[in-house]
Amino acid sequence: MPYPIVHVLFFVLCISAVAVYATVRSLFLGELSLKGSTHLLLLLFVGSICALFPDIVIVHSLLVKGTMEHCWAGPIPTHSLIFSLPAVLFGIVAGYAKYREPDRAMYLGLFAEAAFASHLLLDDISEGGCEYLYPLYEKKISLFSMMDVSFRGTGIFHYLTASFISVMFICSVIMMALFALSKYGFELRYKPEK
Ligand SMILES: [Zn+2]
Repeated sequence: MPYPIVHVLFFVLCISAVAVYATVRSLFLGELSLKGSTHLLLLLFVGSICALFPDIVIVHSLLVKGTMEHCWAGPIPTHSLIFSLPAVLFGIVAGYAKYREPDRAMYLGLFAEAAFASHLLLDDISEGGCEYLYPLYEKKISLFSMMDVSFRGTGIFHYLTASFISVMFICSVIMMALFALSKYGFELRYKPEK
């Protein structure tokens, strides 16, 4: 499994690249306000916690059993989308505690989901799959291996479906982060030519 710092850096620098770009640009232009800084710190805090959330059971395992077990929370695999529910709830509660606005709280919950899913993507690359769809499908799925499927062996329909699903999942993780960040003022914009 990648080290915790790799999960946080992957989410902050790759999935949330637009926020890094907007922050650096604002710093150079002297536009970053105190309000913008508090948004950024909250996003960084929630994003970092949720990017590490799938491995959270390791804390309990280390303290209680002295092992590195982190893939199961009782009968539930921690690297599954269903295990992201507590992370999303944490994002929503943190957002509501800070802003007292349900909309903003929901966007932070969305951001938390993107952070959690980015962890699964990185573990998928390094370990060859996660139980994304548990309990609907209990075996590990590797989105990145799905991209490598050959249409000679499986047929063109399976090839196209596997390619589309794997790319769209990665796209949806990035889009969730982009959408949530735009609601906090971090975005790139299309400028029409005049
Ligand atoms: Zn992990």
